[in-house]
Amino acid sequence: MTTDVKARPARPSEPPTTGTGTPSLKDRGNLFEVAMRQIDKAAQLTKLDADVWQILQQPKNEILTNFPVRMDDGRIQLFKGYRVQHNNILGPYKGGMRYHPEANLDEMKALAAWMTYKSALHEIPFGGGKGGIKFDPTKHSKTELERITRRFTHSLGNNIGPDWDIPAPDVGSNEQTMVWMMDTYMNVVGQNERHSVRGVVTGKSVNAGGSYGRREATGAGVMHCIVEWAKDTNFDLDGAHVIIQGFGNVGSFAARLLSQKGAVIVGVGDHGGYIANPEGLNAHKLQEHVAKAGTVATYKGAAKITRDEFFALECDVFVPAALELEIGVKEANALKAKVVVEGANGPTYPEAEDILLDKGVAVIPDILCNSGGVIVSYYEWLQNKRSEQWEHQDVLDRLQHRMTKTYGEVRTYATKHKCNWRTASYAIGLERIERCYKERGIFP
Ligand code: GLU
Repeated sequence: MTTDVKARPARPSEPPTTGTGTPSLKDRGNLFEVAMRQIDKAAQLTKLDADVWQILQQPKNEILTNFPVRMDDGRIQLFKGYRVQHNNILGPYKGGMRYHPEANLDEMKALAAWMTYKSALHEIPFGGGKGGIKFDPTKHSKTELERITRRFTHSLGNNIGPDWDIPAPDVGSNEQTMVWMMDTYMNVVGQNERHSVRGVVTGKSVNAGGSYGRREATGAGVMHCIVEWAKDTNFDLDGAHVIIQGFGNVGSFAARLLSQKGAVIVGVGDHGGYIANPEGLNAHKLQEHVAKAGTVATYKGAAKITRDEFFALECDVFVPAALELEIGVKEANALKAKVVVEGANGPTYPEAEDILLDKGVAVIPDILCNSGGVIVSYYEWLQNKRSEQWEHQDVLDRLQHRMTKTYGEVRTYATKHKCNWRTASYAIGLERIERCYKERGIFP
């Protein structure tokens, strides 16, 4: 989310109550095992070297820190923070910081691994990492969020750094979070290094050294993939019906950009509930509403529907842009979309993907289509290294070029090897990583 977290009375973190019939994350199975099952298919297809596969099946480092923070009322609360560094053969570890009450180590391991393949697929010189804090940011005041973020950054110490491991926003964190992280890191490195370490995080505000275009980057990447899919299938996006699950940074910008292409957003949902309007929702107004109310559920210009009704809506395009493992067998059977475009990381169970593909639904996988964020993070990191500020349009043009280029590579690979697009995306990434391991070998 790019919106500012509003000041709220201080309360201890509580488990989430979605009220939407969504199972809690711990009931959805082990995300790392799901990720490994997906990637294993590509490892088999590419006949991946067994030694390389052994290395990639575990993260290099799993950092866990319990750190104390003083709350607004004067008491101390202990928080659990994570940073998983999956692989850095292609470049520094890179990936978001997730603030969520159900954050857990297996989830971080899966998300970190996905970052490795996402960067490898798009030929970005980064490895994969992911981290975060197990707490509910909506239950804390802005001053508490600042202290939590700064203390977490401090406890990570040299485990992050502009040429070592570079955090970014993810679910529950935003530009402000990144600016606090950068400022904390800058203040401990020593005064004559302050500005050279600006790139310790990406997804910062433009004001504090971020890149134009980073805010809408993931949603823009999702939109570019949908445009490419529409070209491939001779489908007219003008008037197409779209449903979107999740209306944070990714979902809201995808909605706005797809509306500009003439698509009609007929259903939306988030942790607070689901809404529909067959005449179309105004994405811009809905984004403004969510910035104030924290959920789409209370938006006036639509009817409230259940989660089951949402998945059964008549539509052409479905963008899951919420949390992982939202699309199970039941949801896959109900979905009427022609294409599922994974704005979220890991939203689809492997069994559900099989059902979708059998039904003839195209699935554009997460590491291909939600990579706009990390691509523009790379541009931000380059700008910081060179002390440059690129123009907004320049950033957006580069992003479009890279998204469509990779999209074409995945299409060609999937056709040549007669595999689905997820397997093709992993396979391209795995082959790049394998080539690098083969050339470099293992030290000593
Ligand atoms: N958290 C985002 C992702 O999952 C962005 C990561 C980044 O910019 O490093 O891709």
